[in-house]
Amino acid sequence: MTRFVESTITFPYKRSLGPVTGAFMTALADKRILGVRSGSGVLVPPMEWDPVSGAELAAELVEVGPAGTVEAWTWVPEPTEAHPLDRPFAFAFIRLDGASVPLLHAVDTGSPAAVRAGMRVAPRWRGRRVGHITDIACFVPGEDAQVDGPDAGAPGQPVELMDYTAAVTYSTPVPEMADRAVAATRERRLVGLRCPTCERVYVGGDRPYCPVDALELGPDAEVDLPTTGTLTNFIVVEPVRYPGQTETEPFARVFVLLDDTEVVLTYQPVIDLPVHDIHVGVRVTAVWAPADAPVDTFSGIGRPMGSLLGWTPSGEPDAHDPDLVNRIY
Ligand SMILES: [Zn+2]
Repeated sequence: MTRFVESTITFPYKRSLGPVTGAFMTALADKRILGVRSGSGVLVPPMEWDPVSGAELAAELVEVGPAGTVEAWTWVPEPTEAHPLDRPFAFAFIRLDGASVPLLHAVDTGSPAAVRAGMRVAPRWRGRRVGHITDIACFVPGEDAQVDGPDAGAPGQPVELMDYTAAVTYSTPVPEMADRAVAATRERRLVGLRCPTCERVYVGGDRPYCPVDALELGPDAEVDLPTTGTLTNFIVVEPVRYPGQTETEPFARVFVLLDDTEVVLTYQPVIDLPVHDIHVGVRVTAVWAPADAPVDTFSGIGRPMGSLLGWTPSGEPDAHDPDLVNRIY
């Protein structure tokens, strides 16, 4: 049975809000919470279309709350950086006064024993507000809204755009050969697949076929590859700040042409080779994780490298073949 691996890419994204959500966000900066009339009910947050019937709504906005009643809740004992509070809190459905549906938000009570369905809560506003749902830092027990620190007031301009973190999750099938290639790295071996027809060698096993001959390559096509090579191309990445970025200094990804083969490993990490010393022609050798401490390294484009940590200068003189720079793949 095919094994799948699930991956999630998250990235910062800016979206335009439109007249209804924009008005909601603008009001938040002014410490007001708006809903929209839909039939006899009031939806919070307001929407442009009725979520049940799909009918376009008349954008008749009304103020609700600010206090409300907790209808249901769940405790978050270990908040992550993606959560609204840095201490344990409850996520709760809060029916704001005047609304016909609950709003999901954080409730800060200190302990789960202090939360219950039916309890009354009110917003704790941030002192500095930008027109975002997080302008409400959280809800707190009681009837009266609070403000964290000095109240800086509303920015005074309509809120038309919102920054948020988008996420895309996808699954990829993992060919058996890819698992075998990673297993080989535990024994400090690099394996490839040699096409019996054209004799081209493919590395990594995540694409176990020869695209030229349209031929699937099985275990019998497996060959051991050299673990020394020559640097043919490189990229220096200047890290920019975004959520999840852990690199702080410029770092390199290099292309390595393995000795006596046509195989180029792409976007590989380097070890003990400073960014300003990197150049085409550097002779390199593989660096492995200790056998008793296997790791799962990935190339700069996410290809599994197993216990191959990267490449380090071998100390040999540079190679001077002018054709090296053309060896990209
Ligand atoms: Zn072939």
